[in-house]
Amino acid sequence: MPDPGGSDPVGRRTELASRLAAVRGRVDAACADAGREPSDVQLLPVTKFFPASDVVALVESGASEFGESREPEAGRKAEEVRATTGRDDLRFHMIGQLQRNKAKTVARWADRVHSVDSLKLANALDRAVGVAREGGDREGALEVLIQIGLDDDEAKGRGGVVEEELPALADHIEQTAHLQLCGLMVITPLHGSAEAWMARAAGIQQRFVAEHPGAVELSAGMSGDLEIAVEYGSTCVRVGTAIMGDRPVISP
Ligand SMILES: *Cc1c(COP(=O)(O)O)cnc(C)c1O
Repeated sequence: MPDPGGSDPVGRRTELASRLAAVRGRVDAACADAGREPSDVQLLPVTKFFPASDVVALVESGASEFGESREPEAGRKAEEVRATTGRDDLRFHMIGQLQRNKAKTVARWADRVHSVDSLKLANALDRAVGVAREGGDREGALEVLIQIGLDDDEAKGRGGVVEEELPALADHIEQTAHLQLCGLMVITPLHGSAEAWMARAAGIQQRFVAEHPGAVELSAGMSGDLEIAVEYGSTCVRVGTAIMGDRPVISP
């Protein structure tokens, strides 16, 4: 674990505030280059591996939505941050690959899941959200994005559906009681040209939105490629390293 905040909480808070502002500056500049409104692109700080104290520091710097990718770390942290800040307007996004057996806990804390990539996962989430609503553990529906795999081989490792599977999954989600389809998510493959992958994602999204005009979100772009993602229509960039610093190296 990095030890941000442990030894020098004030220094860490200052560092996070300035890194957050710098990345927001990058997003705004990319919007200007692309002729887009800065308010059309959400900057979602990704806080996986970093302690709740860092998330609280980001809240103090004006952030109110966060991306997490690992259970049970994510659920515990969301609870701690909500309790520490006393804020009920903070929103937490599950952005990482999600196993069906985690649907139950994710349904309690997540406002949006970016990584839905199968009918089975959609069904598990729908059921879990239904149970959580009935039990008073959550109020609203769960916003979901469908993760598309841009590279057929890589999709197997990093998740995501291929374009041919998209219509059936989207139609299915729209029939569920507790899921609200908001759009698509992509992770740019590591090999090849990021620009070419994003152009491909933008094409898939255009065809998708024609069928699902209410689902306009495109979650795309990370620390290294957010400018390209904004150029190609991203509405949410998920930024970890550029704000938080390096994550500890982990084995899968
Ligand atoms: C960790 C993570 C990110 C953030 O990546 P950085 O390169 O650190 O900005 C974005 N998206 C997903 C799905 C992630 O798991």
